[in-house]
Amino acid sequence: MRKPVAHLSSKSQRTPTRGHGPVIVRGFAMEEFQSATALHHKKTVQDASGAQQPTLLSSLWSVLFVISSALIGFAAFRNTLTWHLQRFWGASGDFWQAQWDRLLDVVGEDPFTFWVYGPAILMMAVYWIVGGIYTILDVANKPAAVRRYKIQPGTNEPVDSKRLMKVIGWVLFNQIVVTMPFIYLSYSVMEWRGFPALRELPTFRWVLVEIAVHILMEEIGFYYSHRLLHNAYLYRFIHKRHHEWTAPIAVTAMYCHPFENIFSNVLPIFLGVFVMGSHVATAWLWFSMAILFTLNSHSGYHLPFLPSNEAHDFHHLKFNQCYGVLGVLDRIHGTDTMFRNSRAYARHVLMLSLLPPREAFPDESKCKAK
Ligand SMILES: [Zn+2]
Ligand SMILES: [Zn+2]
Repeated sequence: MRKPVAHLSSKSQRTPTRGHGPVIVRGFAMEEFQSATALHHKKTVQDASGAQQPTLLSSLWSVLFVISSALIGFAAFRNTLTWHLQRFWGASGDFWQAQWDRLLDVVGEDPFTFWVYGPAILMMAVYWIVGGIYTILDVANKPAAVRRYKIQPGTNEPVDSKRLMKVIGWVLFNQIVVTMPFIYLSYSVMEWRGFPALRELPTFRWVLVEIAVHILMEEIGFYYSHRLLHNAYLYRFIHKRHHEWTAPIAVTAMYCHPFENIFSNVLPIFLGVFVMGSHVATAWLWFSMAILFTLNSHSGYHLPFLPSNEAHDFHHLKFNQCYGVLGVLDRIHGTDTMFRNSRAYARHVLMLSLLPPREAFPDESKCKAK
């Protein structure tokens, strides 16, 4: 299950080939990143075909580079961007603290309620309310206006009800039988680690710092666990189930083997919360974001104003491309070369107009025909 986030950040803006189209935003500042990492890639070895293979050391350097430049970038930005947001937060921070106090007054201050019931309810509510809306669109196969945003037109139009039922059954199993015990376990782990003061909400800046770390931890945790699942043996016995859907729909996000659900979906999301010792309110925010991202990644619709989900859709289509969330580690390890040479990559942008990506960037054959 996956969630592109970084596509919100942008350095380069461009308009599509057909001129007066939408303003679009290219994901992650890869051009800068690429030139800066070029040095590391010079320290690579050449295989028999002459193609350069990154060594483990050069990859590690690249990972270090990403982490340090992300931290430096964040430090530079926080005094400008967050200053404005902080002003807003300063005004509304008291409001949120007051709401939080009211909640605590009603439900009490037992950490168990917040770390076990809270995440369990959030997971079910966010997944099925938002996933349910996507599913209605999939089953109804209308309105036509939404169909224009399909990444793989003609697939799941309408979705096969038998296949859908199988997905819903497995996802409920993964949520109730597999994830809920993990949530209980994570409560014990956080108790061992030490809870931050429950009543006091963290500052806005600190929430931003923590969410940045959560995203980074998830990218690392998901990329490597996911790549491991593509090992021939693990793929055959575990990951194949998730890949039954070469054109995914939203609710297939948690349609997978129970082991994969814990190892590759839930653990990478929890990792940052544990490392940072996050406040439970931050953890709730992050869990909700992560679920929304993965639903978007699997939805099969590239909708405007949402982070591009072309990469993970491409992963389902081609199997050996785009293993990560942000695309950073795919770039470092060269697991996105086919994707970057595809039409999907041209569409891999945050659309800031209502023009569907497939119309803004038509297939090459259609381009030539015109
Ligand atoms: Zn997937
Ligand atoms: Zn996969």
